[in-house]
Amino acid sequence: MPLIFDGHNDVLSKLAKAGGPRAAPGFQKGLDGHLDAVKASQGGFGGGFFAMWSPSDMPLGDIDEATRTAPYDVPLPPEIAQPDAWGTIEIQARTLLSLEKLEALRVCTNVAQIERSRDTGTLAAIMHLEGAEAIGPDLLELDTLFDMGLRSLGPVWSRPNIFGHGVPFRFPSDGDIGPGLTDAGKNLVLRCNELRILVDVSHLNVAGFQDVVTLSDAPLVATHSNAHAIAPHARNLTDAQLAAIAKSGGLAGLNFESTFVRPDGLPNNKIPVPMVMAHLDHLLNRLGEEGVGIGSDFDGCVPPEWLNRADKLPALVTAMERGGYSAGRIERVCWGNWMRVLRDTWGG
Ligand code: ZN
Repeated sequence: MPLIFDGHNDVLSKLAKAGGPRAAPGFQKGLDGHLDAVKASQGGFGGGFFAMWSPSDMPLGDIDEATRTAPYDVPLPPEIAQPDAWGTIEIQARTLLSLEKLEALRVCTNVAQIERSRDTGTLAAIMHLEGAEAIGPDLLELDTLFDMGLRSLGPVWSRPNIFGHGVPFRFPSDGDIGPGLTDAGKNLVLRCNELRILVDVSHLNVAGFQDVVTLSDAPLVATHSNAHAIAPHARNLTDAQLAAIAKSGGLAGLNFESTFVRPDGLPNNKIPVPMVMAHLDHLLNRLGEEGVGIGSDFDGCVPPEWLNRADKLPALVTAMERGGYSAGRIERVCWGNWMRVLRDTWGG
């Protein structure tokens, strides 16, 4: 069974709520959720992007509740002040570093480290910031986070901030909502290019996405987004966006979240295997064999019942085999394509 490298999980948010660094040993012992060290080792989850995210002052349950019937258009969560966001992000960064101290994983800043981790059976983690609210307009905190190991960043989550506008949880919708990146947002992208921090376009609205296309000299990466042609959710990528990603030599990671997988946009985990495979096939068709990876959204989504924990990942590999994917294609989607795009982005 091939190892899987994953474009997005939210386990750090979960650990932060449970006590931050003090909760880190729970990750090793096993948590009641989608991802922990035990499930990772059982399911061949070899590593991935560990997102740090600051919650708005609004229960996430409200978002779930508002998507129960389609069409829906959930109001954007309120903006967060930089100092408040910094507080939560710092706890999540320290939690990730505590996991490394416990030897539950290794925080990797280059592909050689990820490959060494794989060879020694160590979980490889990329420190990722989902929504840059913790960073002020002068970008000073970006350098601090870089020093802590940050190598990937999405300028926005699904709410506006000083850098740009995220797409709302709206269905059906094409994500063409609101203006593009602000001047601070453009500076952020350019500074990320200088530092070789990956810029993640998942959650960006269409105008912001287009600004990254114009500004960034790195491959375009959507760490956890699906095909809009299959499920017309604002969070998914239109064929025009997929064409831009393909042209840049970028990558999109398959998201397991039911509202992004299901053509009816509903949070219902009764999802047949072919519905997930339809996204994978479409992404491969548009992005090519080297442009598609996995971006589970574990611990931040409602996944299909058959794929709702890291130890169930082999079921996805089986689905690819049954779908006629060659061993080489499966290895690329599961692992190799992420390494290729990380090498192209980070260098080395
Ligand atoms: Zn997300």
